[in-house]
Amino acid sequence: MLKGKTAIVTGSTSGIGLGVALALARQGVNIVLNGFGDVEGPKAEVAALGVKVGYHGADMSKPAEIAALMDYAEAEFGGCDILVNNAGIQFVAPVEEFPAERWDAIIAINLSSAFHTTRLALPGMKQRGWGRIINLASVHGLVASANKSAYVAAKHGLVGFTKAVALETATSPVTVNAICPGWVLTPLVQKQVDARALAEQVDGEEAKRRLLAEKQPSLQFTTPEQLGELTVFLCSEAASNVRGQAWSLDGGWTAQ
Ligand code: NAD
Repeated sequence: MLKGKTAIVTGSTSGIGLGVALALARQGVNIVLNGFGDVEGPKAEVAALGVKVGYHGADMSKPAEIAALMDYAEAEFGGCDILVNNAGIQFVAPVEEFPAERWDAIIAINLSSAFHTTRLALPGMKQRGWGRIINLASVHGLVASANKSAYVAAKHGLVGFTKAVALETATSPVTVNAICPGWVLTPLVQKQVDARALAEQVDGEEAKRRLLAEKQPSLQFTTPEQLGELTVFLCSEAASNVRGQAWSLDGGWTAQ
């Protein structure tokens, strides 16, 4: 069902975005990668699955570059059928010490970028009669943690945005949903593991154990592969009436 469709996955040179891109590629979906750092490695991994792969280096904090990414997908792939808004950053500090430019960057990348990609992708999806928009939110779209005010505000905003657009598209063949992972061991979380190891004078393994024990009852990290498979499900026919949901994959974090 998904073979030959095209997905844009923002922030897909690493972590969850790359896991989602690979899971979609395994279903025969052509992939537009985006993000910073090593590009050739992720491109080769996706290409090895036999699909067409492209890359656009748009900085997702910049609306003009986001528009260029969408134009690239239109010109090179004939449009975007599956939009995965995944690019995101984190910064941890109490609100009185939170640098204003970090606040602005988190709101721009973790929240506003999804507005810009969505408004530009929707007309084509409606015209072609099929579409899926999946927003990588977080448990922090549903509950808060201290010292993450910008991230929590952006992710709550992303869940709210998901619901609003799902209602606007409810009678269309485009569905809009969010995924809310708990801890996933990616570079974004590794930084927090390292900070904890330093602060508490423990080794990396103990820091990971403490991080999980504090919030995630399963005591296991969610994996990019699991998030990729959930994305594939949300793209399936079986999920065509799943609309406006914030679907947790968090080892029980938000059940507490
Ligand atoms: P990551 O740091 O491994 O990957 C982030 C990706 O976004 C990278 O490809 C990076 O290059 C890209 N990126 C960063 N800034 C960008 C920008 N300005 N423009 C374009 N691309 C940019 O992080 P991750 O853990 O894989 O996070 C992916 C998403 O999942 C984020 O939205 C994050 O908030 C969310 N999330 C992560 C976790 C977790 O535990 N890791 C939990 C819940 C939600």
